Amino acid sequence: MADYSRPAGPRIIAVANQKGGVGKTTTAINLAAALVEQGLRVLVVDLDPQGNASTGLGIDVDDREFTTYELLIDDAPLADVIQDTSFEGLSIVPATVDLSSADIELIANEKRSFLLHDALRQTAMDSFSWDYILIDCPPSLNLLTVNAMIAAHSVLIPLQSEFFALEGLSQLMLTIREVRQAANPDLRIEGVVLTMFDRRNNLSQQVEDDARANLGDIVFTTKIPRNVRVSEAPSYAVPVLAYETNSQGAQAYRSLAQEILRKHKKIAA
Ligand code: ADP
Ligand code: MG
Repeated sequence: MADYSRPAGPRIIAVANQKGGVGKTTTAINLAAALVEQGLRVLVVDLDPQGNASTGLGIDVDDREFTTYELLIDDAPLADVIQDTSFEGLSIVPATVDLSSADIELIANEKRSFLLHDALRQTAMDSFSWDYILIDCPPSLNLLTVNAMIAAHSVLIPLQSEFFALEGLSQLMLTIREVRQAANPDLRIEGVVLTMFDRRNNLSQQVEDDARANLGDIVFTTKIPRNVRVSEAPSYAVPVLAYETNSQGAQAYRSLAQEILRKHKKIAA
């Protein structure tokens, strides 16, 4: 196994699954908050034109003058696009619907798949000393998601504990393999996290059993329970860790953060 103990610069994790509504944004926001709670410096990059991560972290649409779009398309310096969020210590590059035209606008740009990679490796990066950068991907295997996978060290895959959860996963894995072959040979799978797990529902258990049987130890031990506090938090524009700090959802995201930190040897096992 690779030694993650001293990654050069931040560890960049793309939170990806081409299905919508599986818990990508929820995981990006709350895992980020849980890592910040551990004293780490974390940046969320909102790469979804829907901008849900930006809204969920308290950035009003009116306050999104400089966004991921400017970072990718206009070569905006990082310092110009980073904002503080409602969760102290957590920063974000917000997104707006402008980002939805990126695919088309970049069609003639030879570097179109590497724009996020290059943006996150500008020299100004060093002065921020991030420990983690979490990229909230759109629900598609499009150019934006490919940018995320080329920029990232690893892909974290939320898997909704529902019917057809594993359907589409082979497509996602294929895309990861293609990105490895074409551009980012070291891209890893950070892990698969079961989301919206309902212990009263046999189906959730069945999805877990299937996932563990088919995917083995890339499935995190931590499961994120279906928890109404988790779904309420975005309407208060804060992570669930701030909205209802002792809720099951908040505790689960803390547990996920611990699992990741142990794996990266950032804390003792
Ligand atoms: P994605 O980013 O993959 O589209 P979201 O993170 O936006 O998915 O989640 C989809 C919906 O499910 C949102 O309304 C969110 O609040 C809700 N949700 C996500 N995780 C949970 C959970 N653990 N418990 C309850 N609701 C959840
Ligand atoms: Mg989302």
